[in-house]
Amino acid sequence: MKLISKPERNALLLTLTLLSGAGATFAYRSSTGLRVAPAVVVASAPILQYADTLKRGETLAQLFYRRGAGDVNWGALANAVRNFNPSRVNSGTVFTFAQRHGEPAPHAVVVRVAYDMRMHMERTTGGWAARTERIAWRTESFVFSGVIRASGSISDAITESTGNELLPRQDRIELVGSLADVYDWTLDFTRDIQPGDQFRVLAERMISADGEVRFSRVLAAEIVNAGRPLAAYRFDAPDGRQEFFDENGRSLRREFLRAPIEFRRISSGFSRSRMHPILRYRRAHLGVDFGAAYGAPIRSVGRGTVTHAGRQGGYGNLVEIRHNGTTTTRYAHLSGYARGIRAGAHVEQGEIIGYVGASGLATAPHLHYELRVGGRAVNPVRRQPMTPGQPVPAGRRDDFERERGRLIELMAAQQGIRIAD
Ligand SMILES: [Zn+2]
Repeated sequence: MKLISKPERNALLLTLTLLSGAGATFAYRSSTGLRVAPAVVVASAPILQYADTLKRGETLAQLFYRRGAGDVNWGALANAVRNFNPSRVNSGTVFTFAQRHGEPAPHAVVVRVAYDMRMHMERTTGGWAARTERIAWRTESFVFSGVIRASGSISDAITESTGNELLPRQDRIELVGSLADVYDWTLDFTRDIQPGDQFRVLAERMISADGEVRFSRVLAAEIVNAGRPLAAYRFDAPDGRQEFFDENGRSLRREFLRAPIEFRRISSGFSRSRMHPILRYRRAHLGVDFGAAYGAPIRSVGRGTVTHAGRQGGYGNLVEIRHNGTTTTRYAHLSGYARGIRAGAHVEQGEIIGYVGASGLATAPHLHYELRVGGRAVNPVRRQPMTPGQPVPAGRRDDFERERGRLIELMAAQQGIRIAD
């Protein structure tokens, strides 16, 4: 135990008193652990602390004026503080003001101006001065694993998985969204994931000196889908593009995406009844329906040429894309088309072509998606990618194997957390 000398102890008490208001009394233990008589400290100028939030459409000058500090020269402050732009502070930002008892205005303000920077402002005789303080973040890798339960939902499974406590709820949802991105070409998380499937994810999280935790990125994953193991190891392209390869060094990228809507945009609980909601009878359904909010962006599953973009009967607003000599895709019930999407336009894989709606024969917003080969609709759910992905370039093969070995070692770690280098 560290012994605290008497003057230090009094200073500590004074600080506590200043923080909590005037005239507070504290009972404290002496360094020998014995209870001593409560000391009464009367602070001459207790400091009141209060927080205020920048409202939508409000300027910093307005907020500070409201708090009796309309004398801040924001232009001078912006020049003095690097990376601080007073007109770029987001609404919702919280300012903590400190004001001495009996004074009409605050004398100090603390505000978080960036995820890694705090600004301290102080009133001086020559106006307001400011300094910044860096907030350190450290990166940790961790393992997140579980089994898909009877509901068949990977989003449900994350709340029960080990590693669950390592991320706030919103960040766990983002982790699943990022995992779906990794498997964008091989697994449709809405339909392919089944009860009993297992997942093990090596990911990174960031922790600030203030104790905040954020999901960072997926490093590696292993999903056993219907008994089929699908491994993914991150090995980004030299230009920084995110890339994942399997255990044989084959890219997870393919000619077609498994689904035209990002998994993070799919509504849970969307009814997949084959009973047509308007026509009220079961009709041959030639496609797959994705429930998503009105206006959710729709991606072309592959590169190709738009052959139709316009109204077409029960399809409502329809986009059709030809990808090669035999394969076309259709996207129906759209609320609108993305800019430049018209017959003859070229599209890249993943490019936004339109937005979810309920045009044509649809009662609720959803995307009706068809994959057609040789002019006939095929079931895209059953159609697994035919061709393997591109291999790691020969010149980078050794680097990939080294990185894969490192990721496997991290993943196999019994402990949930490891500190990154
Ligand atoms: Zn449909």
